[in-house]
Amino acid sequence: MIFQIRKDERKIFEVIGRAAEDLNFPTYVVGGYVRDRLLARPSKDLDIVCVGSGIDLARRVGDCLHPRSRVTVYKRFGTAALKHRDLEIEFVGARKESYRSDSRKPTVESGTLADDQNRRDFTINALAISLNKHDYGTIIDPFNGLEDLEAKRIVTPLEPGKTFSDDPLRMMRAIRFATQLGFTIDPATFRSISENKERIKIISWERIATELNKIMLASRPSIGLRLLDKSGLLDYVLPELAALRGVESRNGRKHKDNFIHTTKVVDNLAERSDDLWLRWAALLHDIGKAKTKRWEAEAGWTFHAHDAVGERMVPKVFRRLRLPNDKLKYVQKLVALHQRPISLTQEEISDSAVRRILFDAGDDIDDLMTLCQSDITSKNPHKVKRYLENYEGLRQRMSEIEEKDHLRNWQPPITGELIMETFGIPPSREVGLIKDGVREAILDGAIPNEYSAAYERMLVVAADLDLSPQKS
Ligand code: ATP
Ligand code: MG
Repeated sequence: MIFQIRKDERKIFEVIGRAAEDLNFPTYVVGGYVRDRLLARPSKDLDIVCVGSGIDLARRVGDCLHPRSRVTVYKRFGTAALKHRDLEIEFVGARKESYRSDSRKPTVESGTLADDQNRRDFTINALAISLNKHDYGTIIDPFNGLEDLEAKRIVTPLEPGKTFSDDPLRMMRAIRFATQLGFTIDPATFRSISENKERIKIISWERIATELNKIMLASRPSIGLRLLDKSGLLDYVLPELAALRGVESRNGRKHKDNFIHTTKVVDNLAERSDDLWLRWAALLHDIGKAKTKRWEAEAGWTFHAHDAVGERMVPKVFRRLRLPNDKLKYVQKLVALHQRPISLTQEEISDSAVRRILFDAGDDIDDLMTLCQSDITSKNPHKVKRYLENYEGLRQRMSEIEEKDHLRNWQPPITGELIMETFGIPPSREVGLIKDGVREAILDGAIPNEYSAAYERMLVVAADLDLSPQKS
């Protein structure tokens, strides 16, 4: 089959083809670029394999381009890269790999195109397009990758046990591609993932997290989350979620499967927001449920304080997966607060309860409400409708109160400095108590949000602590 070269590709493919001919290196476009183009997905990374030196070819191509392109050489890897327009082009010599059992790092030697295709993870990732004169544009497809693209199938080119045991990261990649592309993992390939799941332990957490993030950014992350579960990989990569699996029944009362529920919440959220960290908050919002589950004769199954327990569990997940520290507080906050808006829709609620959540959520109030809306997974459409309307009502109420009281980025008018100065005391527990007392009074609506009222209240709280203002 001949690849339909697009107008914007013609020039760069020809320049690479000519440079390759000058050097006498058979050269091909390979891997993800070919796959994504055939699927009409956008692709910015162009990978070039040549039978020869990738570095020499890159330099030659760089010289032939107008304007000339600067080539970055990665000597240690024997690769080189250059930018052309919006393409990131990487050049590498065809290689043959052999693995030992204790490492992902293979021994590498030069090889043919076929060797290079053999070392690729899935048939759909092993397609190559020739840039050589005699068969320019031909798709070279030794493993029927085209057929698998058509059938939407993830399958390894060689015996799957060997593919996964050589490089267990490929198990995560299989599940990630199935999620991103909406493909099915071939049964024999999937069985092999289950059989080799223990091997994932030799993969660094950073790489595992990269794949998890790609799963989380897909339009339906639940596909990947459930495949991780079904293969058994979830127990290793996200044991906190694996612990939510299952349903228990007592006296004919059962609770929902909190893992399945979580995957639905993540999907719901993915429909509303592309924000990776809001999606992570959805993924982790109920992780406190495994530890807090109780059977109570009156109430049935309860998960008291699962929000607070979950909040305390988030740092461990972040640390293990090397997720960025500057997102930790945000995710923790959403996990901690995710039950609050529900309680605010249940009965007649006071302005002060709304003020409090506005103050506690701050700038993240909209994200919190989005999370709560996504948390509705009832199968009963009437209930869903009613819950969503309740949240709309709450949002309305919030924006009215916000307009009146401006609590979103509010700082209480009485600062620690002022307290220390007024009462002539050093930084201490008392300073905190006075500050809290004033803030609570404002949030409760006991006093207006104004300086003079706050100052008066400060004096009252301080008097309770036997403190009186210093004469100046
Ligand atoms: P994406 O760019 O969306 O992550 P990709 O398939 O392009 O997907 P890359 O990591 O860019 O993935 O790798 C480019 C190509 O290199 C792949 O298409 C595949 O042929 C090969 N490849 C990458 N990682 C592996 C691996 N762990 N084992 C075997 N082949 C791999
Ligand atoms: Mg790529």
